[in-house]
Amino acid sequence: MADQAFVTLATNDSYARGAMVLGKSLRNHNTAKKLVALIGPHVSVQCKAVLQRIFDEVRVVDVLDSGDTAHLAMMKRPDLGVTFTKLHCWTLTHYSKCVFMDADTLVLSNIDELFDRKELSAAPDPGWPDCFNSGVFVCCPSMETYDKLVQYCTEHGSFDGGDQGILNGFFGDWATADISKHLPFIYNVSSVAIYTYMPAFKQFGGNAKVVHFLGKTKPWNYTFDPKAKRLSGDAHEATSHPTFLMDWWMLYSSAVVPLLYEQYGDQPFNSGCVKGESLEAQALLISSEERRERWEQGQADYLGLDSFENIQRKLDSFLK
Ligand code: UDP
Ligand code: MN
Repeated sequence: MADQAFVTLATNDSYARGAMVLGKSLRNHNTAKKLVALIGPHVSVQCKAVLQRIFDEVRVVDVLDSGDTAHLAMMKRPDLGVTFTKLHCWTLTHYSKCVFMDADTLVLSNIDELFDRKELSAAPDPGWPDCFNSGVFVCCPSMETYDKLVQYCTEHGSFDGGDQGILNGFFGDWATADISKHLPFIYNVSSVAIYTYMPAFKQFGGNAKVVHFLGKTKPWNYTFDPKAKRLSGDAHEATSHPTFLMDWWMLYSSAVVPLLYEQYGDQPFNSGCVKGESLEAQALLISSEERRERWEQGQADYLGLDSFENIQRKLDSFLK
């Protein structure tokens, strides 16, 4: 259907990388819907060009210099900047229905069936399940709704400082009115839930259709060695499931980084991928005591240094 679209948002180059991976993941699972990226004016020309290759429509939205109601509201509530930008989803009135997805989400299978749902459908938030999580939601663009939302923003603010607080306030009967607007959790599986309810994750996690890298540390905050398939970052901050993180990086490094290289040409840019560093060199970065300590605390780096392949290689070298 040409008048239905998946929509995401990126106000800077970091979130733009997330949007690129999300777009690729939707394409890889053969979505029949249009793909729209809303971007802020600070996204670089290179990132914009890459987004244009993945998305059908890349639209610059800037609440600061537009003359619309959000601009006026923004003067009163400068704290809600990115939030107002997300509300622009309702201004896409050339689509009858949209599924908004945060730029920190990744699609694991075709989810076009979400377009069978009504506004406002969303999955429960793992932190407070009577609220929906605004990382994935179904909406019907309408200038009337948009204006009401903006007005709601200025009058009531956001109880959590972000778009989720606004949307839960505005669509306040979500929890009780219509169960068909409760998306199954598999459409917005956030990393937090994995650790707070591990048995459920083990039982149902395999059915996940969308992963949401909710929280402070995003996939693009790590570095990745594509050759060794190794991720590094602050182990203590690692709140995402390593398999999903690896899925994100595999797609980013194989399908997005080459597009970025094409756009940047000779200009330097940070792809987040480690180049030319051997595993041995990386092993020197962390002492064996530190490594043992991490093992004992259950923080084995089983995707990298402590991966099965590496342990086997070590054993082989002893046996020889
Ligand atoms: N976002 C953005 N720029 C920002 C912060 C957020 O473009 O500086 C967009 C992006 O699409 C992001 C969404 O707003 O996925 C919600 O923010 P985030 O995912 O960081 O919140 P969380 O899901 O961790 O609560
Ligand atoms: Mn998010």
